Parts: sequence; structure tokens; C-alpha cells
Amino acid sequence: MSAIASTELVRQQNSLRVLTALRRHGNMSHTDLAARTGLASATVSAITAELERVGLIERTEQQASSGRGRPRVLFQPNRRFGYVAVVVISSDAVQYSLVDFTGTLMDRFAEGRASANTPDFAQAILAGLLRLVGRSKIAPDAVLHISISSKGLVDPASATLLWSPVLGDAQVSFREILSSRFQAQIYLYNETLLAAEALWVRTRTQTGGTGALTALSLGHSIGLGVARERDAERAEVVAPNFGHMLHLPDGALCRCGAKGCIEAYCGFYGILRTAFEVPTNTIPAKFVPIAEVEKIAASARAGNRRAAFAFRQAGLALGNGLSRLFSLYGHMPVFVTGPGTRFFDILKSSIQDGMMQTNAIRIGGLPEITIVPDEQTLVFEGHMGLALSRLDGDIVKSGMAAPQMS
Ligand SMILES: [Zn+2]
Repeated sequence: MSAIASTELVRQQNSLRVLTALRRHGNMSHTDLAARTGLASATVSAITAELERVGLIERTEQQASSGRGRPRVLFQPNRRFGYVAVVVISSDAVQYSLVDFTGTLMDRFAEGRASANTPDFAQAILAGLLRLVGRSKIAPDAVLHISISSKGLVDPASATLLWSPVLGDAQVSFREILSSRFQAQIYLYNETLLAAEALWVRTRTQTGGTGALTALSLGHSIGLGVARERDAERAEVVAPNFGHMLHLPDGALCRCGAKGCIEAYCGFYGILRTAFEVPTNTIPAKFVPIAEVEKIAASARAGNRRAAFAFRQAGLALGNGLSRLFSLYGHMPVFVTGPGTRFFDILKSSIQDGMMQTNAIRIGGLPEITIVPDEQTLVFEGHMGLALSRLDGDIVKSGMAAPQMS
């Protein structure tokens, strides 16, 4: 690498450190910034001057409490530098959120999901995003980053939804459709990957721990994300196709069309099918209202053997699957989230039994399991964490050109 290129790289990394510190810890003085980032005082001055010049950060002055002496100068991200739009696609609705450059939520609304017809679906998301910016009277070009999530399989590189419970294998290329009206960088994530990211950041903030963890989402479909330490500040997150890993060869018919997937036993439709003794080759229900699963759970808790068996089958499939995950990725704590957490009392022992059947767990022991019921908050936290850090990275790498605010 040439000397000029490496100087430029160091400058970018230092600018990113300052921006990250301001995002994490809010308003900060020059002295605090130097302490947090470990950068020399002169370096912090040069960086804050440059970030201020391009409009990425702004300063406020705080009069000393004595009313005498020089006012204290505090830096923070410039709220109006640009905006982030977040789109959360779930089985029955699409939620749109608009966030300013400091990470503050400005507007949010949800719409019933449009038709499952693919071109219409992508167009409906585009229309939703245009409505989102219109409501806040913001030009589409002022949105610098669009962060989308769905359950299912995604190709992050092209922002294409490859397979989803909502649309099946009809693929949606969000970048292609949305870039007709938006200049923003467009990212697409698996929903449980975002939950794993948020849990990793929470764990690091609360305990300082940065080990690996897995997020398991229980509901109509089964999602899983794994977060592992990349460096002290960031996690490497992946979403293996856990719900559709093989549980039993030639087993129950899954919603994806394959046979014997984990989800075919522990997704809500799988539990329903077992409880009502429906043949396992029956095409799965498209959607099972949670009230139906509540009824089966109540009957299992009351001692009904068939209902209890349905939950036991589900727990064993989950336990077997988790132990396979540990065989590949190593042991890690499990955080269970999603609507299915309300049935954890009748799933827990069979999940443990399912794990104990395997060598990985007999040797390594049972992992710690924590219930985090509020999946929506986790997913949004994951969106914001990744969106703002990627946005900062994109801006700094592009030479901090001011965005077009038309
Ligand atoms: Zn499947």
C-alpha cells in the first residue's frame, strides 16, 4: 500500500472511531472524545474540524455553571445530515420507520401486507417508502440508507429476498426496484440475524462480554442467527438456514416444499398438525393464529397427552437442531425470542432432552438459555445498530462528500 493510501486509511479509521464514540455515548467534549477513542488531542481536533466542515457533526456550547470562563463545547451527530428508513416485513404487515442521523425515531406506521404477487409486493414497499418520506416532507434523496428485514433466506450482496415464508420462492430484488426512486444504500437482512446482532451489542454493553451467542426465534416459522466476535466493537453475524435443516429424513412435509425440516415439527403449523393427528404429508397451513396454539398449549398443560406430545416433538426437533449447530460453531448461550416464547414452559425439558441425545452436549454440557420475548424491539435495535455504523462507514469511505439534499 502506498504511503498516501495508508495515511488516508488511518484518517478514515480515526474519523469512524470519533463518529462511533459520539453514537454510543451521546454529546461529548473534546477531552471526553480523546479519552474514549484513545486518539491524541491534536488528532481529535483535526477530525472534529473536518467532520464539522462537511456537516456530519455539530457543536453546542454549554455555559459553565459558575457563569464565568469559557463555555464547554459538546459535539454530536448532525441530526439533519441525512435519514435512515427501516422496513420490517412480517407475515401479516409491513412496518416503516424513519430515523434521523442521531438515531432518533421520527415517524413510524404499519400497513397490511399487499398481495403475495412479487412485482406488486416490491412496488408496494416502494410506495410505502415514498409515503414515509412524504409524511415528514423529506426528499427521497435525503434518505441515505434503507434497511429492510424479512424472515427467510436473503442474499445480502444483491439485497434480494431468495425465499420467504411470505412469498415462497418468488424472488424480490429490492435494490433494483427501490433504486428507481432512492439514491440510498439498500441493505436486506434476515430478521433473526438482526436479533442476534442486537443481543450481542446488549451483552457487550451490559457485561462487557463479547463471546458468541445464538438467537432462536420461535413462531409460525423458526429463525436463527449467530453472532461471533469480530473485534471488540463489532460482531460477525450470520443466519444459517436453521429452520430448514434436516431433522428427520423423509419426514413431515415443510412449508418450503422439502420433507423433514426442523420447522415442519416445531413451527406453529407443525405443532398444530401433530396435535390434531393430521397426516404429516398434509400441506402446511399458511398461517396459524396464535390463539389456536394457545388452546393446544392449555390442553397440554392440563395433561392432554396428544397436545403434550405435539410440544414434545417440537422441543426434541429444536434440541437436536441446536446440538448440530454447536457441533459446527462450538458451544454458545441461546437467547430464545418470538411469539413462541410463551410456550417455553412446555418446550424446555424436551429441548434439553433433544440436546442431551447428542455427543456435543453430553461432553460440553447444556448451554445457558435466556428468554427475551420482545422480538420486535430486538429486530429494530439490530437494524439501527447496523444501519448507523454502515452509514458512517459508507460516508467516511466516500471521502465524506455531502449528500445531495434536493
Ligand atoms: Zn423446510
